Amino acid sequence: MCARPIYMDNNSTTRADPLVVERMLPYLSDDYGNASSVTHEYGRVASSAVSMAREQVAGLLNCDSKSIIFTSGATEANNLAILGVMRAAKKGRHLIVTATEHKAVLDPARRLEREGFEVTVLPVNKDGSVRIEDVEQSIRDDTALVSVIHANNEVGTINPINAIAKLCRSVGVLFHSDATQTVGKLAINLLHTDVDLLSLSAHKMYGPKGIGALYIRSGSPRIRIEPLLEGGGHERRMRSGTLPVHQIVGLGAACEICRGSIEAEAITISNLRDRLKEGLAVAIHDIQFNGHESSRVPGNLHVSIPGVNSDALMMNLRDSLAISSGSACTTMAPEPSHVLVAMGIDPALISSSIRFGIGRFNSMDEIETVVALIGQTAKKLRKLRVS
Ligand code: PMP
Repeated sequence: MCARPIYMDNNSTTRADPLVVERMLPYLSDDYGNASSVTHEYGRVASSAVSMAREQVAGLLNCDSKSIIFTSGATEANNLAILGVMRAAKKGRHLIVTATEHKAVLDPARRLEREGFEVTVLPVNKDGSVRIEDVEQSIRDDTALVSVIHANNEVGTINPINAIAKLCRSVGVLFHSDATQTVGKLAINLLHTDVDLLSLSAHKMYGPKGIGALYIRSGSPRIRIEPLLEGGGHERRMRSGTLPVHQIVGLGAACEICRGSIEAEAITISNLRDRLKEGLAVAIHDIQFNGHESSRVPGNLHVSIPGVNSDALMMNLRDSLAISSGSACTTMAPEPSHVLVAMGIDPALISSSIRFGIGRFNSMDEIETVVALIGQTAKKLRKLRVS
């Protein structure tokens, strides 16, 4: 059998950890009860598995487990936060987001505009970070919610969400963060922050696809949310639908594993990323590294290689390397990445951009192979251009 390409697209999705899969399997076979059917043994087993998973998610985030609402992923969590909070807001008609949000925030924001709400989209610095002064200046009397992505899924830049949340709390405005790229990778301690709502997804942290959660701060004043789905009133009426117990168990297990390994894994993965960066800088002297130099998620490296089209590079390497030229969720769209455009990156460099997503299952040997492959292929493509 041919070796499979090296997988280095972990910002797009991660392989489920074998332990996650093992923990999920019983809930697809013997333990198939409905978590709401607590009148019998099958339902009680499912219900207690869901409760345990909720504790595991809350344990990773250091928050009350009652604050965790299971959703189908971060897309739904973001939609629930943005649409749900704004539609339930008593008087606020104004929403603030940043230009480098995922489409799962930007598109609901656009929908709200069509419904008559007002939306401010904040610009970002060249490194992709938002300026706290811009947030401060754009907050109005009728602002109901501010949403700032924790770390960007394309360039990896981390935003100062704790400081922004504090600012929002001081003026009585709710704060949401899409933390899909950071949960399980960076320590997040919700007990010690003013973050009101936070989205996460299992498949970015070695769990299964199709499950995520929205953290909604509990306590007073109560956060009002209009649900997206009406039905059986599951998840404290905020997300109706029979709970996918196996998926929830998988998310819980993924959180438990990350909680135990978060610091050591961040160091290991940062070392792999640093070696990749160093190797590429030697192999390709004019390579450009995008995103913030130090305030970035451990596994992400985003580069532009002048004169080398990223599609051509990926095509040449498709049998040996799985990487991406941007967000997988938008790679079907022919337009340039809205994130790179917002950062003011030259259009020629945008079409020469590559994202490496290093994860738990990558090794230093793979990094060395990738450095050699990218170096040789970039040289070959540049020669073809000249001749
Ligand atoms: N937000 C961010 C920052 C993401 O990276 C992604 C996944 N690309 C999403 C939201 C959507 O997550 P999901 O696939 O769980 O719907």
